[in-house]
Amino acid sequence: MHYWPKTLDEPEWMGVVPMPEYGNRLTVGQYQEHWLEQYESAGTTPSGGDMSGFCGSAYATWAGGRLLDHIPGCRNLGWGGYLNGHIPHEAMRYRPISGWMHPAASEAFDQIYAAAQLAGFDLRGNGYRSADDNGAATRGKSCHGVGLAIDIAVLVPGHTWSKYRTLDQAFASPEFAWLCASVERYGYVVPAYEMPEGMRCGNSIGTGIGGCVGEVCGVSEAWHIEAVGVAMTHPDFEGKVDAATRHARRKRRNPHTRGPDFVAQNAT
Ligand SMILES: [Zn+2]
Repeated sequence: MHYWPKTLDEPEWMGVVPMPEYGNRLTVGQYQEHWLEQYESAGTTPSGGDMSGFCGSAYATWAGGRLLDHIPGCRNLGWGGYLNGHIPHEAMRYRPISGWMHPAASEAFDQIYAAAQLAGFDLRGNGYRSADDNGAATRGKSCHGVGLAIDIAVLVPGHTWSKYRTLDQAFASPEFAWLCASVERYGYVVPAYEMPEGMRCGNSIGTGIGGCVGEVCGVSEAWHIEAVGVAMTHPDFEGKVDAATRHARRKRRNPHTRGPDFVAQNAT
């Protein structure tokens, strides 16, 4: 197997570290060896599971060894003294491949991008959305508003339009299969409510419609992933995600408080 098709014609690339500016430290050959090890042990690794041994990003790993399956209560999250949807660009990090994001989430996405390139996929996305960018349904509630979520598209090589014309095609694609299998090692997850009903990704089973914000479904950004590892381990969020988890549990226990906003807080 070759994870960078170029190596088929030019084997000398096996000894090269591609795109070191994105944080790659392994040569193509080393990466392939590493990936095969992960692949062979993947059958025994539960989704949202053991992150020990992965060191994709300083904040990708979770000391307790488990990632939550989504970031709870993003609407109650803020960082750097700013509220959801009101984070200034100066506080974030910008990359053309991901837009503005929390710096640690952005760095972890750089690594996803580079790994995807090695696998032959060109995955790019859009991270932060301000309160003004978001529609009324998700204003101030989405994890995009804290720069911890990114919607991902796969483009036709050399062009700016999406490779997949329908959400069905997008979710049945090898790129989505790769995302499912790969993002956790960088501290990201695909939340169940961001996948079509019944769709499997690791141990998560889709409960949503995927790629849709309100009534608008974007084939151009079908997939949504969240930097759970950053939310759980970065000092900017210390104590906040725990509080949000308790808040969400309380809401679930008491159905009378589970109004439309409970659904909206999980919106893309
Ligand atoms: Zn999204």
